[in-house]
Amino acid sequence: MVSDIFLANLKKLVPDETIKLRVPMKQYTTFRTGGEADCLITLQNKEQLARLLSYFHRTGQNFFLLGLGSNLLISDKGYQGVVLKLSGELEQIHVEGERIRAGAGASLARAARAAYEHGLTGLEFASGIPGSVGGGIVMNAGAYGGEMKQVVESVTLMDEEGAIVELKGSEMEFGYRASIVRKRSYIVLEAVMRLEQGNAEQIGAAMEELAIKRREKQPLEYPSAGSTFKRPEGFFAGKLIMDAGLRGFSIGGAQVSEKHCGFIINRGGATSEDVYRLICRVKQEVREQFGVELEPEVVMLGEFV
Ligand SMILES: Cc1cc2nc3c(=O)[nH]c(=O)nc-3n(C[C@H](O)[C@H](O)[C@H](O)COP(=O)(O)OP(=O)(O)OC[C@H]3O[C@@H](n4cnc5c(N)ncnc54)[C@H](O)[C@@H]3O)c2cc1C
Repeated sequence: MVSDIFLANLKKLVPDETIKLRVPMKQYTTFRTGGEADCLITLQNKEQLARLLSYFHRTGQNFFLLGLGSNLLISDKGYQGVVLKLSGELEQIHVEGERIRAGAGASLARAARAAYEHGLTGLEFASGIPGSVGGGIVMNAGAYGGEMKQVVESVTLMDEEGAIVELKGSEMEFGYRASIVRKRSYIVLEAVMRLEQGNAEQIGAAMEELAIKRREKQPLEYPSAGSTFKRPEGFFAGKLIMDAGLRGFSIGGAQVSEKHCGFIINRGGATSEDVYRLICRVKQEVREQFGVELEPEVVMLGEFV
């Protein structure tokens, strides 16, 4: 619940029309599940963000930075705090020679498209990842042999008090689906990606080939958050889940995809609770049958029991 005083204070920091109250988060996640957030603010520039962060830091207000919600499970009970979304200046893309400067709110697909249109190679792998540039950096998103780590030259971040921090790619501590961002509670504002001159026709063909592979292998016809679990060392999550006999297994509207067991999908009408219970069940079966501990890749927000 947002109090009148809190709302009045927010309105001193950002334009009224950027603030929405009691927002159903279903529409902001690719799982299409989840309850309401107390408040969602769509930020147009880094000055607005800095003012809010400084206020939240002083008052101890909790907040969550939302990307494109493609790796996110939000509790059915919702989120008691402020969700921030990057827009306006924070989702712009500029191509500068062999570099792409992209706002964190821009989609990876749009950045990959810009690279293709300028005949730049290196970002083809990201064209089918349905996240934002910011989310891609946080998670060091990767596919088909490529990952953000390989192309990110520098990143502009904001710390919890609203101060700007510039880091080189090599300082980002990129690891498997991880980076320094969540460890330090930074917010990604912008990334510079260093690509190479290539042949637009070949780049387009490579992107198309990857899109075909995805459509063949992944259940893109259903809402999901992609691979539910990280790849455990020495194994493939999907294979372990299949070998555990869980292919097609469902709880409520959530199901282990028959097409790709590494994906939990929303077959229709799933709640976040269904997804969460299925995650727990899959973890338990795989642990009991193979002694392997699966770790969710999906970020969970709010309360789960
Ligand atoms: C069909 C499908 C296929 C997928 N395929 C792949 C794949 O091939 N490879 C892969 O790596 N992933 C894949 N994913 C998962 C997902 O797209 C990536 O993890 C992506 O990087 C998440 O970005 P997002 O903007 O959606 O982040 P969100 O889901 O909105 O957020 C994820 C986390 O990042 C944080 N975050 C987001 N933006 C920022 C920011 N600007 N600053 C600070 N923190 C931020 C959030 O707070 C949260 O902790 C897939 C998902 C789907 C649905």
